[in-house]
Amino acid sequence: MNYHAAQDRYAAMTYRRAGDSGVRLPVVSLGLWHNFGGSQPLEVQRAVLRRAFDRGVTHFDLANNYGPPYGSAERNFGHLLAQDFRRHRDELFIATKAGYDMWPGPYGDGGGRKYLLASLDQSLQRMGLEYVDVFYSHRHDPETPLEETMGALNTAVRSGRALYAGISNYPAERHREAVAILRELGTPMLLNQARYSILDRTPEDGLLDAVDDTRTSLIAYSPLAQGLLTSRYLAGQVPAGSRMSVGHFLKEEALAGAELDRLRRLGGLAERRGQSLAQLAISWVLRDPRVVSVIVGASSVGQLDQNLDALHGELLSEEELVEIDLLSR
Ligand code: NDP
Repeated sequence: MNYHAAQDRYAAMTYRRAGDSGVRLPVVSLGLWHNFGGSQPLEVQRAVLRRAFDRGVTHFDLANNYGPPYGSAERNFGHLLAQDFRRHRDELFIATKAGYDMWPGPYGDGGGRKYLLASLDQSLQRMGLEYVDVFYSHRHDPETPLEETMGALNTAVRSGRALYAGISNYPAERHREAVAILRELGTPMLLNQARYSILDRTPEDGLLDAVDDTRTSLIAYSPLAQGLLTSRYLAGQVPAGSRMSVGHFLKEEALAGAELDRLRRLGGLAERRGQSLAQLAISWVLRDPRVVSVIVGASSVGQLDQNLDALHGELLSEEELVEIDLLSR
């Protein structure tokens, strides 16, 4: 069936500015790491993407190796983009990345110029795009000079293959250096993408300050701790088809010992607020204005809807924040 985007798609979404740039991003973005590869039915992928756009999600986060197999999320996204979203291209903010293992041999991993630029060309081809909105160095590679990696991002932007440069999984000090190098080159850094959730508060140890000091923004990935901070596992079972049931990235140990109890207490707090645990987790990350957006994953339209409804929740009170601090430390 032909897709006609909802007329009122921008009515209920909130957009925040990324650092001091001209870019505004939806506070909830959609990530395609899982659920968009070879094994998920294309019609489910299509339904999730359509619903996201209909509800004001303009930002879609990809990487060269999302799938499995590697490249398949970009290929599927490109296919659905061509069918449903082509005429909306200028309303979309599309990200891709390179930095982790992608192809065999010495030029398919890391932060080298040859890998990053070749990978970006391949990503553009898979997605059928002339440019991406932001191209990230997916990780800091200690074996490659930062100048070389940032130089490759600068080339990506100067050559028109990307509009903005970003970094991901860079610690605070490397973030500051990367921003300085890019500024010198005349290509401002837009975003640092880092894992941040009630269960992983690492960015509070200097990264959020670094992002703020350098007038950039943090964009938070895995805000639901891959599904732990949802109702998915609160019964202490591993539902068939869940990420934990596949077990590569989310292991059953995450429910062991006191962990399940902690999740249930957080679930209780969410319930008292009239929210789901997923919604509480999203509201909590977004309480910090240095975070421009949370990138959620969703394996169904129902999950996505629930996550987007977090925006209707009340702000967290001081007492609630203290309670979360006690449960998250
Ligand atoms: P989340 O923490 O949002 O976890 C998403 C998973 O949680 C879903 O696939 C689903 O799992 C479950 N879920 C989501 N919503 C609900 C709900 N309402 N109720 C019940 N279960 C729910 O994020 P991800 O770990 O998927 O990461 C999000 C994105 O961040 C990625 O797609 C990617 O774009 C980016 N990312 C970037 C990284 C980087 O290195 N830069 C690393 C990791 C992610 P299930 O499949 O079990 O239904």
